[in-house]
Amino acid sequence: MFAMSRRDLVSIYIACWLSVISRVDAFVVSPPSSANNCVTSSLHPSTKTSHMKVWKRCTRRKKNKPVSLKASASTTYDLIVIGGGSAGLTAAKFAATFDKSVCLVESNKVGGDCTWSGCVPSKTLLSAAKRAYTWQQMNEQYGDSKIDDTALRKMLQGVKKDIDEKRNRIYEEDDSPKVLESLCIDLAQGKATFRDEKTIDVSNESDDTSYQLVAKHGIVIATGASPRNPKLDIKGLDTVPYWTYENVWNEFFSSIEQNSKQKVSSKRIVIVGGGPIGCELSQAISKLGCSVTLISSNRLLPTEEVEASTELQEVFEEEGIQVICDQRVESVSKSDDDGLISVALTDSEDTIVGDHILVATGRVPNIQNLGLGNIGVQINSNNGIRVDDNLQTSIKGVFAAGDCTGDRQFTHYAGYQGAIAARNILLPLKDRGVLSQVPATTFTDPEIASFGLTEEAAKQQLGEDLVSISHRSLSKVDRAVCEGTDTHGFIKIVYHTKTKQILGATIMSPAAGELISELSVAKDAKLSFDKMSTVMHSYPSYGIALQQMAADVYYDKLKKSKLVYDILKRAGL
Ligand SMILES: Cc1cc2nc3c(=O)[nH]c(=O)nc-3n(C[C@H](O)[C@H](O)[C@H](O)COP(=O)(O)OP(=O)(O)OC[C@H]3O[C@@H](n4cnc5c(N)ncnc54)[C@H](O)[C@@H]3O)c2cc1C
Repeated sequence: MFAMSRRDLVSIYIACWLSVISRVDAFVVSPPSSANNCVTSSLHPSTKTSHMKVWKRCTRRKKNKPVSLKASASTTYDLIVIGGGSAGLTAAKFAATFDKSVCLVESNKVGGDCTWSGCVPSKTLLSAAKRAYTWQQMNEQYGDSKIDDTALRKMLQGVKKDIDEKRNRIYEEDDSPKVLESLCIDLAQGKATFRDEKTIDVSNESDDTSYQLVAKHGIVIATGASPRNPKLDIKGLDTVPYWTYENVWNEFFSSIEQNSKQKVSSKRIVIVGGGPIGCELSQAISKLGCSVTLISSNRLLPTEEVEASTELQEVFEEEGIQVICDQRVESVSKSDDDGLISVALTDSEDTIVGDHILVATGRVPNIQNLGLGNIGVQINSNNGIRVDDNLQTSIKGVFAAGDCTGDRQFTHYAGYQGAIAARNILLPLKDRGVLSQVPATTFTDPEIASFGLTEEAAKQQLGEDLVSISHRSLSKVDRAVCEGTDTHGFIKIVYHTKTKQILGATIMSPAAGELISELSVAKDAKLSFDKMSTVMHSYPSYGIALQQMAADVYYDKLKKSKLVYDILKRAGL
């Protein structure tokens, strides 16, 4: 009975509010009169009331109890959140939604990696690159000639503008101080350090102010991650200019603008790192017209099924990317004569030469200079903040969420954890914030999306006999055949041989990031794989392949009862 009411009250509560406040829903909280609200409300009936409540509460609290930050003053809040990225914003919005006073401390521009240097610019770049590639191919196929350099440069200027516009739009609509103010979230601009378990010092060097903030109920640390310092691993990197995901959004475009003599197509970019960031950027930059060499110390996307890595490498090579796997970069140097960068590999005599080098060798949690030692917060083996299943650190009342915990680095996971951390501080009882299975998508073309166990991991955990595989090549998916996307890709579902419960899946296909959600929902709802055959899908969607694959499993099951059916039929039933 208790468990039931807890699920009802807490999980459903959280699920409802998450849909309103998290970035996953990309939903702006503003007064209920806007056209945007009407559209969204009609799609999601529950959100209209949520919206109105937030707005009313906000004005009420403002009238009765204005909260302001004054230099050198100390202010007490129900919740203090350090870091205004996906995790921190969701935590703060959660608190505000429940009418709690909350202060968000941010040392930079609110929005974090996702808005400024991660998801938003990378997905905008990939989308533009895909269109540019199609444009070039169509022109080669049906036009008179290849697209010339002037046209390519003009296109790239447009792409840069597009990235800036998209980032600013999402910032203005979701993250800006104006949005926070409308939600009654106070923003303290500056660097946060712990004075004690309940007190945060905020110092802002630009206007030379400092504040002291006191948390009544708790503090959420959501300071994110930064590029891993590759200078430690690659000799000579400190002597050459290199790009990371933090500066590539400007550096790539300005390198083209500044060098008008060099054709875009003759620009050579060396990318180090075969994880999602390295793969996405390699394909985008290649499709925008430059020549790319991708070096990975492992296979591409090493946490995915091997088949996905192999096929992605084939796609890249067909598109003209030079892929070097299972090789580490030993050292780099820059020539004084022509400014070219030479890259030496550990196990090869070959030297790779490029105009620029982009290093994407991982991200490390931001845990420095926070004064964590002052209060004894423990660090885990990933160099992140150690948390228990409910996201509490080793110090009572101090929670951590998102990339700073050293767990998997996704916006949806950070957002989820931010809400759960705030919920666990502010509401009764606790919910789990550390999840064993989180869906992931690499937004290459085709996309690669997965969740749960790979075939190998499932067999290791359960034994070969209890693991079954349903596999379909994209060449057998009608939609892919119609669209000409059938040359590479597959859907692979790992399920329990006896119960038919879904254990994991990998999809390499257009819109794989959308398709994987259906399987996640089925798994969460404990819908066995074969039962998905009874859920009608429209033809010829990519998703109908899931229904067809499930039907194969369902028919196999039916066939095992053939004798019983024959007897019943003969008996006239
Ligand atoms: C190129 C790239 C592409 C990506 N693409 C995707 C994708 O497609 N899908 C996806 O799910 N994820 C993607 N990610 C990952 C995603 O961006 C992160 O997982 C997510 O942003 C983590 O959110 P966070 O809140 O934990 O940290 P962040 O967003 O990094 O926010 C942390 C904030 O804390 C602030 N801060 C740090 N220290 C202090 C301090 N002492 N005081 C005050 N403020 C401080 C920082 O300035 C920052 O604003 C991508 C990442 C990159 C780099």
